[in-house]
Amino acid sequence: MSVFCTSPWIPPEWISAYGHEPRGVWTVSRPRASASCSEGICAFANGCLEAAAARVEDDLFVFDSGCDQMRRAFDALAGHRQNAFLFNLPATGQSLAPRRIYRSELERLGRWLAERGGSVPDTPRLLQVIRQHRDARLQLAAAMEGYSARQCVQAVAHYYAHGAVWVPGNFAPAPANSVPLALLGGHLPAGGGDPLDHMERCGGRIVLNATAAGERALGSEDEAEPAIGSAEDAVEFLTRRYLENSIDIFHRPNSRFYQWLGPRLHARRVRGIVLWTQVNCDLWRAEAQAVREAFGRPVCLIEEEAAEGLSPRDAGRIEAFLELLR
Ligand code: SF4
Repeated sequence: MSVFCTSPWIPPEWISAYGHEPRGVWTVSRPRASASCSEGICAFANGCLEAAAARVEDDLFVFDSGCDQMRRAFDALAGHRQNAFLFNLPATGQSLAPRRIYRSELERLGRWLAERGGSVPDTPRLLQVIRQHRDARLQLAAAMEGYSARQCVQAVAHYYAHGAVWVPGNFAPAPANSVPLALLGGHLPAGGGDPLDHMERCGGRIVLNATAAGERALGSEDEAEPAIGSAEDAVEFLTRRYLENSIDIFHRPNSRFYQWLGPRLHARRVRGIVLWTQVNCDLWRAEAQAVREAFGRPVCLIEEEAAEGLSPRDAGRIEAFLELLR
């Protein structure tokens, strides 16, 4: 069965090992939001609800607890859909308690997947799938700088659909005088292409896509060879990998996000930052000032209203931002 996850911090390899097909819901086209976001739900959470309503009942949905919106979306869905699961992602550091929570969530997810047609994997299968995903992420992370912004999104989407690396063809590099930009935030609109194309048309060049549709979704992978001699070891490995290497702002403190971002902004000579948020997303909006202060670069804050792509107002804002930087 297809298992649509709302967060890159729920291991696709765990789902795959149970014989299901993991998909990142943020990488697939979501239906246009039919409801406005005035009910306090952001466009992304709303889009996930719409996606769940549009899919066949056999598809499974795994929501995460990273923010209030997602928890509320899950509550709204769970009332009328059986095949939905809420994965509790610990927001605090790496002490014993969050590790225990994450471990028990993985085990609970495993039981849930097995009850829905999955087969409990043996140790060789776990090792094989874990290795395959780790190698794919390492390979992708190393290749990202050579991809165009659109290719980066396509490569991440391919990984979340197939657990494998997609090697794009050549692309025409942006003109040398274009402005190097970083794109930050949670989720791009369905399909993802509009904002990227618009920024490039206006004279920008996205050298770092730090949204869930870009390289941030790969986490910061370490190269340690998984030492897995039992299912217990696999759970421990995934717990460590996902608690220590996920890059997000809902963590408290969220210094790992800044530590990951800083060297990349510097190495890629980023001159401006576009922070892509959604109306009702307090989490990302609250980072705008902190990002400005931490990195001393201008920040253009975009608040997407509905998962329908770039609004004329936001398009104008991006254009004005790039005018300033040129
Ligand atoms: S966009 Fe913000 S509010 Fe919406 S799901 Fe993501 S983190 Fe939560």
